[in-house]
Amino acid sequence: MKTNLPYRILALAMAFTPPVYADEITDDIALDYNSYLSDLFIHFHENPELSFQEHATATRMAEELRAAGFTVTEGIGQTGVVAILENGPGPLVAMRADMDGLPVQENSGLPYASTALQLNPATGQQDFVMHACGHDVHITSLVGTARQLAKRRDRWSGTAMLIVQPAEEIGSGARAMREDGIWERFGKPDYVLGFHVSAGNPTWTLNLLENSSPYAGADMVDIIVHGIGGHGAYPHYTKDPVVLGAQIVLALQTLVSRELAPHEPGVVTVGAFHAGTKHNIISDEAILQLTVRNTNPETREKLLNGIRRIAENMGRVAGLPEDMLPEMVVLEQTVPPLVNNSALAGRINGVWRERIGADTLIQKLPDGMGAEDYPFFTTDPDIPSIYWEVGGTPQEAFDAMANGGPAIGGHHSPLFKIEPEPSVQMGVDSTVRAMLELMPGR
Ligand SMILES: [Zn+2]
Ligand SMILES: [Zn+2]
Repeated sequence: MKTNLPYRILALAMAFTPPVYADEITDDIALDYNSYLSDLFIHFHENPELSFQEHATATRMAEELRAAGFTVTEGIGQTGVVAILENGPGPLVAMRADMDGLPVQENSGLPYASTALQLNPATGQQDFVMHACGHDVHITSLVGTARQLAKRRDRWSGTAMLIVQPAEEIGSGARAMREDGIWERFGKPDYVLGFHVSAGNPTWTLNLLENSSPYAGADMVDIIVHGIGGHGAYPHYTKDPVVLGAQIVLALQTLVSRELAPHEPGVVTVGAFHAGTKHNIISDEAILQLTVRNTNPETREKLLNGIRRIAENMGRVAGLPEDMLPEMVVLEQTVPPLVNNSALAGRINGVWRERIGADTLIQKLPDGMGAEDYPFFTTDPDIPSIYWEVGGTPQEAFDAMANGGPAIGGHHSPLFKIEPEPSVQMGVDSTVRAMLELMPGR
C-alpha cells in the first residue's frame, strides 16, 4: 500500500555506490544471491498472486523456510506463514515480509515480466497480476535472512520468528494473522522488524527514520447525505444532496488548513462522490467516500470529530430536519500510524553504519501520507519496532530523469521496476545485522 511518490526531490540525491563490504556476511549474502536468491526472486516475480489468494506463494515460502531449518506453520490468518528457529535463551525477534501482488498488467519491459492472470474476488473476473509494489523483494529477502540465520547459529542466541504476511495491499493480512492468534500460538515478540523496498530511493541505501512516522494511520469514512429528490426544474420542492454534498466537500478543506497546527500532518481527501442518475432529476441521496490520514491518535480524533461536525451542521445550513442530517460512518479498515521506536532505530542505524557502511544510510522524510498495515503487529500491545526502506532504483535512473529521461515507475504502476540484486542483498543484510544485534551470541 505504498504511495506513488513524485521523485523529483530524489534527483538531488547523492551518487551512491555499492558499500565497501565490511565482512564475510555481506560477501556471503552476495554469493547466495547469485547462486540461489536471484532465481527465487524471478520465480516470485513471474508468479504474483492477489491479496489472500497467495496460495502457491505461501506454499513455496513454507518449503523454502523449512528447507532452511525453520519450523513452519501455514494457514495463519488465511494464507499467512510463520517460521520459527529456536536457538537458545534470549529474546524473540520477529521479521515481517508481505507477499501479495496487485491487479496491474505489467508493462515494465523486463524479460521476466509477469503475464499471470488470477480470478480477482473483488471484480469477479480474471485479472492480470503483478508484483507492482515489490513484495517479491520482501519474501525473497526473508528466505535469504532465514538461510543466513540458520547458517550462523553460533553468532546469536534467542528465537527468530519470520512472518510471511498476506493481503497487505487491502490492509487486512496483518490483522488477520493477529486475530488468528499469532502471538498466543508462537509467542509475543520482544522486537518486531520490517522493511519496504522503495522505488523512490537509490539502490544501496537504507532509510530508517529515527524521529518521525514513515507511514500514516488511515481511516476510510463514508458520509451519507440525505436529500429530498424531485424534478430538476422544480428545485424549490427538493433538498438537493448534490449541492449539500459539494458544500460539505469544500467545508472539509478547512479541517487541515485551519484546525490542525501548521506542523501537524493530516489529510482529508474526498476520493469519491456518488449521486444522481440523470440530467433533470434531483437525487435523494449522495454518498461521499473519504480517506483520512494521521500520525497520532489525537489528530485522528480531531479530524474524525471535525468531519462529523461539518457534515451534520452543513445539513442544518441546508435546512434539513434533524432526523435527516448527513450521517458519517467510519468503516472498519482503520490502520494505526507506523511509529518507529526512536532508541531502537538509532541503535540499528548505528549497527548498519559500522557493519554495512555509513554511505548507505539516509534520512529521507516521507512527502506524503501513505499507509501500511504493519502497525497491527506493533500495537495493542505495543512492541518496540522499526520499519525501514531499502532503495530499489539505480542512481543513474534518477540522473537520467533529471536530464529529461524517462520517469521512474512508482509503486503500483505497470512500469514499476526495481533492481533486484541490490534490493534483495540490502534487504537481507540490513535484516540479518538487526537480528544479530538484538539476539547477541552466547
Ligand atoms: Zn503497495
Ligand atoms: Zn507494498
